[in-house]
Amino acid sequence: LNSIYSALPTTIFEVMSGLARTHQAVNLGQGFPDDPGPLDVRQKAADAVVDGWNQYPPMMGLADLRQAAAVHYKHWQGLDLDPESEVMVTSGATEALAGALFSLIEPGDEVVLFQPLYDAYLPLVQRAGGIPRLVRLEPPSWRITAEKLEAAFSPRTKVVLFNNPQNPTGIVHSREEMQLIADFCIRFDVIAVCDEVWEHVIFDGRRHLPMMAIPGMRERTVKISSAGKIFGMTGWKVGLVFAQPELMRVLGKAHQFLTFTTPPNLQAAVAYGLGKEDAYFEDMRADLQRSRDRLAKGLSDLGFPVLPSAGTYFLSVDLAAIDPTLDDEAFCLDLVKTHGVAAIPVSAFYAQDAVRSVVRFCFAKRDATLDAALERLAGAL
Ligand code: PMP
Ligand code: GLN
Repeated sequence: LNSIYSALPTTIFEVMSGLARTHQAVNLGQGFPDDPGPLDVRQKAADAVVDGWNQYPPMMGLADLRQAAAVHYKHWQGLDLDPESEVMVTSGATEALAGALFSLIEPGDEVVLFQPLYDAYLPLVQRAGGIPRLVRLEPPSWRITAEKLEAAFSPRTKVVLFNNPQNPTGIVHSREEMQLIADFCIRFDVIAVCDEVWEHVIFDGRRHLPMMAIPGMRERTVKISSAGKIFGMTGWKVGLVFAQPELMRVLGKAHQFLTFTTPPNLQAAVAYGLGKEDAYFEDMRADLQRSRDRLAKGLSDLGFPVLPSAGTYFLSVDLAAIDPTLDDEAFCLDLVKTHGVAAIPVSAFYAQDAVRSVVRFCFAKRDATLDAALERLAGAL
């Protein structure tokens, strides 16, 4: 069988988690927390199953969840969203991304993407027949500039796919960078598919700025969120999609033939969870920020050049300053096999012309896990 998909490698997350199991390594690779998630939200999901919420829910999602999402995003991000016509529930952000790309792109349309890119993006764009136009970002700032956008956008651009806060770098792009993207979207009549799954995981007092809030973008943005990230339960595949009604009608067509619905017990629990008091979300951030600082300090003390992380579960180190010949992939393979720590080589997030000196670590772990990893990393440089 010969297809775009037959030629794809297994994702780096699966490869590294597999190696971590084989070598009994501390797994700071694939991003998932040690903690099981908020008990009350898990209890709601369990209760809903026992109470019999086990048949097909409405295609666009439970009314309670769509309503709760509209209230949540008004409260946290100042967005006015109509739960009836502008909110859809999908089976994870991954389905939302697939549906958006499949329904908005026609073969031959150009899609602007930023490297490093979350690994699902490119295969989905290619499967949809889109022509990727890659914008290469580099450490330490990973900044988006007008020159880079000028080289990537054209009258053939249909969609720009923008991830903020950004996985794998852990940066939060500035309002100025977002304004630049918005300017190009408006100039070339482009739809922005915005992967904002890390919106609640931002540090140092930051507030998430949704692309929809940039003037002129409300009507041309598809916002994608993920309950897996909002509650730190990454196995819960519940995505939320927001777009103006005309776009939503098209997005709904993709959803109806990708998964059609999403388990109703999880939807009921997420509807409950989105209404949790502010303190829950603030505490989650504060806990993760402490973990970020613990790992950053430990790595710095060992001599790793740590790059700043403003959000997500991730921070990265740039090994170029230590040894310009170091290769991130070789380094990560040696790390997991010889030292017993799994991490992710950031070159895996480039389709071409990769930066090969940056390694990503997940810090969404208990102190004991981070300390065990640091102990093993002591001899790695
Ligand atoms: N986009 C980004 C940037 C992610 O980091 C992730 C998950 N790690 C996803 C999408 C997928 O989200 P979900 O699990 O809800 O499908
Ligand atoms: N998003 C998670 C990460 O970046 C993993 C997602 C996955 O395993 N596909 O580590």
